[in-house]
Amino acid sequence: MSLSSPIDLHCHSLVSDGALRPQHLVQHAAEHGIRQLALTDHDSIDGLTEAREEAKRLGLDFINGVELSVLWQNKTLHIVGLNFDPAHPQLLQVLDTLQSTRQERAERIAHKLEQAGVVRPLQRAREQAGSGQITRPHFARLLIEDGLVSDFKQAFKRYLGAGKPAAVKTHWIELSTAIETIHAAGGLAVLAHPLRYKLSGAWRERMYQAFVEAGGDGVEVSAGPSQQPHDLALSTRDALKHGLLASMGSDFHSDAQAWIPYGRLQPLSTQLTPIWTRFDS
Ligand code: AMP
Ligand code: MN
Ligand code: MN
Ligand code: MN
Repeated sequence: MSLSSPIDLHCHSLVSDGALRPQHLVQHAAEHGIRQLALTDHDSIDGLTEAREEAKRLGLDFINGVELSVLWQNKTLHIVGLNFDPAHPQLLQVLDTLQSTRQERAERIAHKLEQAGVVRPLQRAREQAGSGQITRPHFARLLIEDGLVSDFKQAFKRYLGAGKPAAVKTHWIELSTAIETIHAAGGLAVLAHPLRYKLSGAWRERMYQAFVEAGGDGVEVSAGPSQQPHDLALSTRDALKHGLLASMGSDFHSDAQAWIPYGRLQPLSTQLTPIWTRFDS
């Protein structure tokens, strides 16, 4: 059975924590059989113009996207916005706020990492990120380079993850603000990778309820990385229960990260309504 899917509505470029520039990400997607693609960088839409131009050249259907960081009940959630007007003032203002929050957070993380023995963390993270957003994976790379950990997983487990020495509390935007802003810009709001927040069943249910109450539209039912059939069944059930549209996205960052091979997401159940049926292009 082929698991190839021609649609990917969640991936990253070096505008945030991905490895490829937007143009090359689109080429990579095309080479892997993707026909409809959304670029969803963390808290930035700076890659959309370049990606759209390349998609046009290659004949891919390109959807504007972004992955917004949200603080809900003291937990960070990710809300993917799809098919919005990238010039909408409210969206631009919220992105500006999130980017300032990211910068301040980077300074606080860097301070803690310096104490843990990382050399010039803020400057080096900034050099790596270039004009893009500084993310925790940038700091993870420094921890590896300086020999404090052997891989990304250890960097999060020992330093950057919640409750670890270089973790910082970050006041991202409210869930309702994220959804309202995506709607104001004419887009659809998707709860990203619902099973990656390490929530109990009761908390997951609360998250879905809050998302629906705030007007959320869809959920990533088919999600990378390495989603198991059991997870697909669980998210299918949750989407149906809460009347949500279904999205599909690999969360691709780079070929180096041993996640799912690109373009091989599990297909959606025919019981679900795919979110892309609501894109009017
Ligand atoms: P940030 O938004 O700056 O907190 O960075 C979050 C990103 O870090 C996620 O989108 C993932 O790409 C990456 N990430 C989070 N947890 C891990 C982990 N345990 N191992 C590797 N990468 C991770
Ligand atoms: Mn990421
Ligand atoms: Mn995410
Ligand atoms: Mn992502």
